[in-house]
This record gives sequence, C-alpha cells and structure tokens, in this order.
Amino acid sequence: MRLGGIEAGGTKVVCAVGTGPGAIAERTMIPTTTPAETLERIAGWFADRPVDALGAAFFGPLDLDPSSDRYGYITSTPKPGWAGTDVVGFLRARLGVPVVLDTDVNGAAYGEYRWGAGCSAGTLAYVTVGDGIGGGAIVDGAAVHGILHPEMGHLPVRRHPADVFAGSCPFHGDCLEGLASAPAIARRSGRTPADPGPEPARTVELEAYYLAQLIAAIVYLLSPHRIVVGGGVLHLPGLLAAVRRETAGLIGDALPALRDRLDQYVVPPALGPDSGVLGAFVLARRAHDYRSAVVSD
Ligand code: ZN
Repeated sequence: MRLGGIEAGGTKVVCAVGTGPGAIAERTMIPTTTPAETLERIAGWFADRPVDALGAAFFGPLDLDPSSDRYGYITSTPKPGWAGTDVVGFLRARLGVPVVLDTDVNGAAYGEYRWGAGCSAGTLAYVTVGDGIGGGAIVDGAAVHGILHPEMGHLPVRRHPADVFAGSCPFHGDCLEGLASAPAIARRSGRTPADPGPEPARTVELEAYYLAQLIAAIVYLLSPHRIVVGGGVLHLPGLLAAVRRETAGLIGDALPALRDRLDQYVVPPALGPDSGVLGAFVLARRAHDYRSAVVSD
C-alpha cells in the first residue's frame, strides 16, 4: 500500500509518499499561496505518484463533521482567500482516492501518538506553540472532535502580575495565544523567539507562566497519559524545564504523584519536524481502512 500525506501550514505545504518513519519514499515542499494554485500543485504532485489513500493535516478551522454538507472545508480562517475552501472535495475529485482531513495539530498528534513520544501512551495530548497556539488530543486512537475541534490556544488565562502587554489575539486580546504565541512575544518585546535579545530570561518566565496554565488545564480536563509540547517557541533554551516547574506549582499537592514526574510527562516531540507529515500517513491509513470496510459490507 502507498499512502500520501499532506501537512499544510500557513506558509508551506509538505507532501510525502510512504508508510511511516524511515519509509518516506519521496517528499516535496510547496509554498502556501492562493487556494487554487496551492491545491493544484498538491494534486499535480500526487497525480505523478499514485497513492491508495490520502491524509491531509491542514491549518484551520475546518469543518470535520461527517454529516455536514461542508465537511472537509476550511471555514473561517483569517488567512486571505482560504475561507470556504473545499479541500477534501477537490482532492477526491482530482485524485480519485479516499481522503481524510484533520487539523495540522491533530495530524502532529497522530504522528506522535503512533510513532513518537506518545508511543506507549493510551491517551495523548499535543500542544504546539508557534505563530499560533494549538492543542489536540488522541483518545482511543482517534482525535477528539465535537461541534468543532479543540481550540486550546484560546484558553483564558490568569495574567502575570508584571505583564502589561494587551495581547495579540484578534478575537480575545489576552487569551493564551494572545499572550504567549510567537507574534505575542515579538509584539511585547520587539524580539523574536530566534533572537530573544538581552532579556531571554523574562520571555522564558512569561512563557512558562502562561503555557503551564494550559498544561494544568489539560491535566484536569482530559487526564491524558502524556502531553507532547512542540513548536518553534519551545526552542527557547530552558523553556520546557521552566514550563514543567510552573506546572508543578500549579498542580501542586492536588496531584503529587504526577508533579514528581513531569519530566517524563510533559515531553518534546520525538519525530522532530516530521510529526505532521507522518501523522498525515495515519490519516491516510484511516481513509483506506474506512473505504475497505464500506466496500466489504
Ligand atoms: Zn484568542
């Protein structure tokens, strides 16, 4: 079986053919431009490399409700031109193979769950901190969806007493994403995560203070077996350790057994930058297995 995987972010799309880690036969990168041009280039690449099923992990928000007549569409994204794009319909029509779509965050969660840091975890949460903040969860082998998909980045948080930055979220101002995403760091300090300037310690302190609130919320709401935390902002030296320390303070005596082993519980991705595209293979496998079940009924 040959699987196709697509990981589509705001600036680039990674397409790959293969079956899993160490078994990526071919891959390419396509810039994310207009929907028509980008989807055309994706379809063209796969047309030359036939696959049995396709998994697509896309930036959202997405309509993932199978009973919706807009299933497989990008919905209300602020990314110019992309709102209302029918991703699944286009790829199915052009390539004639089963397609399963999920968010880029859930894609990475699937990759880590299947082959990475979540390998032995029954229930896994995945958080990414970069241009936005996203979080997803895999429960009983499937990503959690409901009326939408989780939007953990918009969690309301308690403000750090010394932080006067108004926040950068266009919807809420000072939600988690508005205070702790890479654009928030840049706007607050005039710096970037790659160039934290002379006061990286302050950035680490604020980031840890805010991100630990999401980790604690995930622990209390979902009680997963493991939480993987990735994304460009986590490359800040010392940040992951600081997030664990802050989390320990927040969950404190409520969960002492967990507090004492956070270094094995809040972990970085094991698949590095490949979590998403490998997770798209997991989605492709689900698309293939679903069609096989339907056909044999
Ligand atoms: Zn928000």
